[in-house]
Amino acid sequence: MNYHWPLIGHDNIRTYFTHAFGSGRVHHAYLFEGPEHIGKTTFARMLANTLLCESETTIPCGSCRSCTAFIHGVHPDVAMLLKGEEDHVSIEQVREYIITLRTRPLLGIRRIGIIEEASRLTLEAANALLKTLEEPSASVVLFLITHTDVLPTIASRCQRIKFGFVSDRAISLRVGATGYQDELMAYAAGRPGLALQYADPQMFQEYADEFHELEHIVAQNESKQMLWIAERFGSLGNASERRDLTRRLITTLQAVLRKDLPTRPGGGTYLKRTIHAGQYLNANVDPRSIWEYIFFE
Ligand SMILES: [Zn+2]
Repeated sequence: MNYHWPLIGHDNIRTYFTHAFGSGRVHHAYLFEGPEHIGKTTFARMLANTLLCESETTIPCGSCRSCTAFIHGVHPDVAMLLKGEEDHVSIEQVREYIITLRTRPLLGIRRIGIIEEASRLTLEAANALLKTLEEPSASVVLFLITHTDVLPTIASRCQRIKFGFVSDRAISLRVGATGYQDELMAYAAGRPGLALQYADPQMFQEYADEFHELEHIVAQNESKQMLWIAERFGSLGNASERRDLTRRLITTLQAVLRKDLPTRPGGGTYLKRTIHAGQYLNANVDPRSIWEYIFFE
C-alpha cells in the first residue's frame, strides 16, 4: 500500500469489507448510516478506490492507472453527488445521474456512484433511483450516505452499514498530540472529522468559543435562552446561513451534553431533542422554531 487513507476507527466495518470484497461479494447498493463527521464518505471513497483498482486486491495499489486518476480526483468512472447548497435532489438531477452511471466504464469494469445526504432525495427522485437499484447492473455500485432516516423503500433495497462513534484512543493515535488534547477529545466527541479540523489551533479556538457559549446558555433560564435565540438568529443573513449555523451549533450542543451527561439534569431529554432537531432541519423547519423546540418543548 503506497498511501494511507485518513480513515480513523471502524475496524469492524473495514474487516467486513475486506472479507466480502476479497471473496467477490459486492452488493449493487450500500447505505452508510451514522452521525456526521465520523468518516462515512471517506470510507465510501476508499471502497470505490478499492473496487476500481486494477490490481484487484483488497487494498488499492496506489500506482495503477485507476488509482492515479482516483488520487487526483479525476477518475472518470466515479460519480459523486456531494452535499452542497441544495436541500433537495430533484428527479431531473437523479435522471441525469443514472444516465452517467449506466454509461460504459472508461477505465475499468465498473462505475461507482456516491451520494451524500441521501435523505435529500425527493420522493420522485428516490423512485427513479429505486428502478436502478431494482435492476442491479453488474457494472454499477452505489454508496448512499446519510445521517438521518431515508425512505424505507430505499433502505430496504440496500446493504445497510451502521457507523458508530469512534473511540478517543483511535482518534488520538491518528490526530497526534496537541497542546489541548483533553478539550479536543471532548469537543470532537467521537467524531474524527471534527478532531482533524480542530487540530488546527485557529479552528479549535473558534469552536471552543462556541462550545463555551452553548455550555453557558444551556444552563440559563427560559428568558435568557429566548434572548439568545433572538440575538443569534434574528438578524443573521439569509436562510441558508441560519441553517448552516444551526446545523453546526446542534452538533456542538450534542458535544456539550455528552461531556457531562450523567450529572446534567434532563441531559438525556435535551440530547434526544437535538437529534430530532437535526431531522427537523432537514425537513426545512425554521431554525428559530428548532431552537425553541430544543430549549422549551
Ligand atoms: Zn491500483
